[in-house]
Amino acid sequence: KNQQVSNHTTYNGMEEEVKAFLINEEQLHTFDDLTKVNPVTTATVLKCLQARYATSLFYTHAGCTLVALNPFQPVPNLYSFNIMRDYHTASRPQDLQPHIYIVAELAFRNVQGQVEPINQSLIVSGESGAGKTWTSRCLMNYFATVAASSTSAKCQEHVERIEKRVLDSNPVMEAFGNACTLRNHNSSRFGKYIQLQLNRSQQLEGASVHTYLLEKTRVAYQAPSERNFHIFYQILVGLLNLGNVGFSSPADESQPCELKEDTKGFLKTTAKLLRVCEEDLGEQLRVRTITAGRQQQVFKKPCSRTECGTRRDCLAKVVYAKLFDWLVKVINTSICSDPSTWTNFIGLLDVYGFESFPQNNLEQLCINYANEKLQQHFVAHYLKAQQEDYTAEGLDWSFVRYQDNQSCLDLIEGSPASVFSLLNEECRLNRLSDADQFKGRLQKALGANNCMSWDVFSKVPHFTVAHYAGRVSYQIEGMTEKNKDPVPPELVQLLQKSQDALLKQLFPVAEQDLCDAKALSKAISVVAKFKGSLESLMRILNSTTPRYIRCIKPNGDCKPHLFRSQEVLTQLEACGIVETIHISAAGFPVRCLEQLECARSQMLSHKATFIQSSWRHYRRRKLARLRRATTVLQAAVRSWLTRRWIKKCHYAATVVQ
Ligand code: ATP
Ligand code: MG
Repeated sequence: KNQQVSNHTTYNGMEEEVKAFLINEEQLHTFDDLTKVNPVTTATVLKCLQARYATSLFYTHAGCTLVALNPFQPVPNLYSFNIMRDYHTASRPQDLQPHIYIVAELAFRNVQGQVEPINQSLIVSGESGAGKTWTSRCLMNYFATVAASSTSAKCQEHVERIEKRVLDSNPVMEAFGNACTLRNHNSSRFGKYIQLQLNRSQQLEGASVHTYLLEKTRVAYQAPSERNFHIFYQILVGLLNLGNVGFSSPADESQPCELKEDTKGFLKTTAKLLRVCEEDLGEQLRVRTITAGRQQQVFKKPCSRTECGTRRDCLAKVVYAKLFDWLVKVINTSICSDPSTWTNFIGLLDVYGFESFPQNNLEQLCINYANEKLQQHFVAHYLKAQQEDYTAEGLDWSFVRYQDNQSCLDLIEGSPASVFSLLNEECRLNRLSDADQFKGRLQKALGANNCMSWDVFSKVPHFTVAHYAGRVSYQIEGMTEKNKDPVPPELVQLLQKSQDALLKQLFPVAEQDLCDAKALSKAISVVAKFKGSLESLMRILNSTTPRYIRCIKPNGDCKPHLFRSQEVLTQLEACGIVETIHISAAGFPVRCLEQLECARSQMLSHKATFIQSSWRHYRRRKLARLRRATTVLQAAVRSWLTRRWIKKCHYAATVVQ
């Protein structure tokens, strides 16, 4: 094999630790479960993963989680039908080579539960480009295949149709929701939780998709060397027309901006595609309508060139976001089954990975907040809960320290004061956005939180948050405006008047309620909406048995055969893999619910009593039968003896005669 695993190790001070551990370097790749590594340190774990990566072993158990290294190239036969069959038919799939199919198979076997259905969630996490979406796709393929294999020939066609629909929805959603970024050529720009609905016979009945916070700003703005959503390069060259409409400042400020001569054609095409009046579109992009005074007088105010650009981008973003939501709804209508037909579900969570760019804004804050929430879910479910259980049950246990991210979450979403609450206050009071003033408010309210800091030398208003996965600086400029996410009411009214049936559906007239300024200030902010949807996701996750897959990106260049120790190290530390291994290695491999265990032992004791009583009953019946037989025998002997005696008497009488 032509493997060139380069080592850019800069983890100074760890070499001695690794040397002591490297007794037999050739055997390192055989550690298929990191709980077997001794001693468990970040360095030794890293060395094992590196050795496994070099021998094309991309999956490794790490206690309750599975570590998945991204090969960055297709691996022959890793996901073939035969491999799926091997894992599905194995009596103990855990005994086979580590694979995402083990996690999938265990979820599939446990979803029915011993007493009642136990819904399962597979939480796939990792930074951008680590392989979450790829892994989720492979898992979906697996479930679709094994659920179809348990189907009778009669239902086969029905199940195959559902399976095809569910799998076919993936490329459509990726086309509209994924884009090429600096870190991943197919980066998911929305979060996704897909529920595969199964019936009592473990057959796939349907699925439903929940999506989270599409990064709609990408429609209007992409960072250098990044691209818009894939669909624009595939079929939708038209919604790009709007982006090409340009404005030039007027000589007289009381007059509206002029449309740039060479972009007038783009406005015409946009109006034609949106099926709205071209003049109206041109006017609404350049002139603002203000309602003021007691008599609610209407004024028209020409917008500046920048404002015209903002209005144009707003229009593009709102149409795209509504279209995406509509698409998800249509997909759900097509793949979702009647609730009466399914009894349990397996959920697959694929959310955008942790992000830290040179410039970060509200989008990154929301994405990193979502990752903090998931990390907390993991910490609460595994690291914290397991240790608390051991202590409560009086087991001999020395506490393993782990990084709890509660104070970071308090900083972002807590009450009464947090970044989100202060952002929402700006939105509620409809304050004019001023970055320096907002920074002052943040400093006053949150300066005491250890997770918040400021670079005193920076000239740009910002704040830095110490996330579990690293420190990220967020620019304040534009943040409050993004949180308000205002849509000019005139533009919404224009879209409501469109002749296009789909646009009419996307912008129903009822939304007019939101069009006056007062209602706009009451409109739910971006972070409030996102927080709400994440909370409902957490409620779903908390009601299921979670299983974790940690995707790791071996190098930032997305190249095969390249393992950069420092980059992997950062990711391993960020997800607390060493703590997880420590707890898994020291903890108990199997945990059963007390009620279940009681039920089981009760069943066993019933069985024993039943056997005992059956034996007694059997012995009693056997003795009775024996006694009966003895009596019959005695009677027979007696009668035989009597008959013999009579015969003898007869003989004697004859002789005497
Ligand atoms: P983001 O958070 O940006 O959406 P992601 O974690 O979803 O990132 P993916 O899109 O799943 O990342 O993976 C990035 C790329 O890595 C894929 O397009 C693919 O080329 C490659 N890749 C990931 N996993 C595998 C795998 N198991 N085998 C081969 N290639 C893979
Ligand atoms: Mg993805």
